[in-house]
Amino acid sequence: MTSTDLNRHDPAGTDPAEAHLDAAVATVDLAAFRRNVELLVATAAPAEVMLAVKANAYGHGMLPISLTALEAGATALAVLEVSAGLELRAAGIGVPLFAWLHGRDTDFKAAAESKIDVGVSAVWQLEAIAKSGARVPARVHLKIDTGLSRNGASAEDWPELVTTALHLESQGFLEVYGAWSHLADASTSDDEIALAKFTIAVEVAESLGATFEKLHLAASSAGLRMPKARFDYVRFGIAAFGISPFDDVDGQGLGLEAPMTLSAPVIAVSDLDAGHGWFGGLEYDLAEPARLALVAAGFGDGVQSPAADTAEVLLGGERRRIVSLGVDRMLVDADDLTVAAGDTVVLFGSAERGEPTAEQWAAHADSIGDEIVSSVAPRVPRRYIN
Ligand SMILES: *Cc1c(COP(=O)(O)O)cnc(C)c1O
Repeated sequence: MTSTDLNRHDPAGTDPAEAHLDAAVATVDLAAFRRNVELLVATAAPAEVMLAVKANAYGHGMLPISLTALEAGATALAVLEVSAGLELRAAGIGVPLFAWLHGRDTDFKAAAESKIDVGVSAVWQLEAIAKSGARVPARVHLKIDTGLSRNGASAEDWPELVTTALHLESQGFLEVYGAWSHLADASTSDDEIALAKFTIAVEVAESLGATFEKLHLAASSAGLRMPKARFDYVRFGIAAFGISPFDDVDGQGLGLEAPMTLSAPVIAVSDLDAGHGWFGGLEYDLAEPARLALVAAGFGDGVQSPAADTAEVLLGGERRRIVSLGVDRMLVDADDLTVAAGDTVVLFGSAERGEPTAEQWAAHADSIGDEIVSSVAPRVPRRYIN
């Protein structure tokens, strides 16, 4: 049957025979991830690694990634919200957990009682902690804003944050345990200024009577390139997922591997006439007759539509253009390829295997690799190997 027949009979691509075909899958190679973490642990030493597993571990799956990171030498996990920390505790993870994004409904009582350290950037958060009714003191890390202005106490507000925390500590509500900040990673000179601000803030706090068990400032970028910013913990995130935080080198250049491979099966292949038409519910415009593969992945799976105009996928061993993108499907140029339904298309994966990478997709989407991997939709099953 030619594509035109196919389209005539099935313009919406709703052939029930498709139903049994698999959809997109994200395969996560835990061994590759483990090697990345081992490399980062060795790089940061003697600082420890607090691995950032926010955003469902940048789309890779929080729990398997957390367990693997700990096997590989990370000694703490950074989780964004208290609720995510509670999930890790419920799964039996006992290492220090750090949560720093709080709303009015954050459960500080559960945080304290589950020994989840909390990052604190404002007096209202200290007050909420004191009022939470927890049976044990909350362990807090005070945050100074060093330029990112995302949150954190400004230099003016910092002394009040510190003295309020010390007062509540003396009343048994909390323990002042750490001081921290987050770098904007805008440029080396910005990071130098931020580091200086951080150091001054710590001195100010100490002059007010605080003692800190742990200091932490660096994420992937400064953790790799700014040794003096490593302090006690480096909160590595994206580098552990094989993606470079820098513009001048990619993950592979840093010796990192991409743990995630996003792939999808070919559903149908058809030789189409020139002109405008439909195949599998997707619109195409062909200047010349062409062979197209209908592939089971679309923007509903997190494929970035801005990238799709120029990004390429790996089909039949070759890099091929995306001709059209829909919610659940895409059309890929399959000219001169011997491919058939059931063949696998790799959207992004490992540079070592010659696959397009999330970083290359990011370049096509005018985005960053973090967003490409984190955007893989929840409906896409994560399959863990190794
Ligand atoms: C996201 C985040 C990290 C990790 O950052 P990367 O650049 O991905 O390494 C560390 N700390 C905080 C506070 C973060 O929000």
